[in-house]
Amino acid sequence: MGYVQDVLQKVIERNPHEPEFHQAVKEVLESLEPVFERHPEYEAAGILERIVEPERQIFFRVPWVDDNGRVQVNRGMRIQFNSAIGPYKGGLRFHPTVYQGIIKFLGFEQIFKNSLTGLPIGGAKGGSDFDPKGKSDAEVMRFCQSFMTELYRHVGADIDVPAGDIGVGAREIGYMYGQYKRITGLYEGVLTGKGLTYGGSLVRTEATGYGLVYLMEAMLADKGKSFKDATVVISGSGNVAIYATEKVQQLGGKVVALNDSNGYIYDKNGVNLDTVKRIKEVERGRIREYIKDHPDAEYHDGPGIWNVKCDIALPCATQNELDEADARALVANGCYAVGEGANMPCTPAAVKVFQENKVMFAPGKAANAGGVATSALEMSQNSMRYSWTFAEVDAKLKDIMVNIYKTASKTAWDYGFADNLVVGANIAGFLKVANAMMAQGIV
Ligand code: GLU
Repeated sequence: MGYVQDVLQKVIERNPHEPEFHQAVKEVLESLEPVFERHPEYEAAGILERIVEPERQIFFRVPWVDDNGRVQVNRGMRIQFNSAIGPYKGGLRFHPTVYQGIIKFLGFEQIFKNSLTGLPIGGAKGGSDFDPKGKSDAEVMRFCQSFMTELYRHVGADIDVPAGDIGVGAREIGYMYGQYKRITGLYEGVLTGKGLTYGGSLVRTEATGYGLVYLMEAMLADKGKSFKDATVVISGSGNVAIYATEKVQQLGGKVVALNDSNGYIYDKNGVNLDTVKRIKEVERGRIREYIKDHPDAEYHDGPGIWNVKCDIALPCATQNELDEADARALVANGCYAVGEGANMPCTPAAVKVFQENKVMFAPGKAANAGGVATSALEMSQNSMRYSWTFAEVDAKLKDIMVNIYKTASKTAWDYGFADNLVVGANIAGFLKVANAMMAQGIV
């Protein structure tokens, strides 16, 4: 067996019952085969064996009291995967599906995504099986305070800087920041995605969605296409989907469908984003409520959003939400570009369908890196005790996304994989981390 297959086998044996982690590792490692042919020194230094093993994994109890006075217990975790190029950085996910396999897949992806941004940030991820859905603000606050009461000892502005992900937005970051400051007495940039009145960065809220569209714009432009007059389907209706929609609309595209875990809306006139923002950001409601304000639109229960005809598809909900059958439906309907706003939303079989059918495909590590990149800009501003304007941060974000596209694309061509951004992003992200690890010895 070759080096890559050998390490992959060991990962599966050593981490049983973690299919999402296996999937993420397989996807990266298999595209690295040509790197090891060119660089046998990486194998000699055991780079792969080290990179697939988190530097540190922290699991802890999160007890809290609900509004009925009952004691609830959730499991908290932080997986500090790799600090070769900077302090650990990556989001926290609060969702009932969270367990170590999901957090390891996300943490592993984060290493390469963060590297691709060109900024000095290592990879980590964390979260809890806590479900914020249906909880009162007071319950969410008590949970966040309890979570941070354990997490605080493992994080810090130069150690590990968590942020949001699914289920963790401005409200949760605020409660966790307050508790960190209360315990440590430090007013430091320990979390990103903070509110603008206490150290947050302009554009951070919009960054993942805007960044996705900036990267797609660069990719489309290479083939003489653009968002202007394109019909776009975006899954999800959280932070990433909302701001991807906003940017697509600004560029003259028409977003006709959005969804949540219950079902999808189809609005042939183009979705009204003010309504979606009100439902999702203010009322914390379900997407089906959209049709109350827009009776011309349709609501369909269940999956099926990928059967909606479109030119460009942007999966922005969650992992493995778009499978092989969905990919075939998109291709049959003439979709010519797909960009992953979520982490690993397309299954490996779906990606294969896109590649075989010459659909332009931007993998999440490149396409959704705008969020974490802007988090790194928030860290810089916190260190300087200074804030840049919206236009300044937005320009930097755009620059970073265009550079990610160029780096991934150039690396793919250098290694003989033409337009394959999956391989390009994986190799480019890996090389920087591997070289830093080589320089720092066996640690
Ligand atoms: N959770 C986001 C991601 O997947 C953002 C992480 C961050 O800002 O640190 O990259």
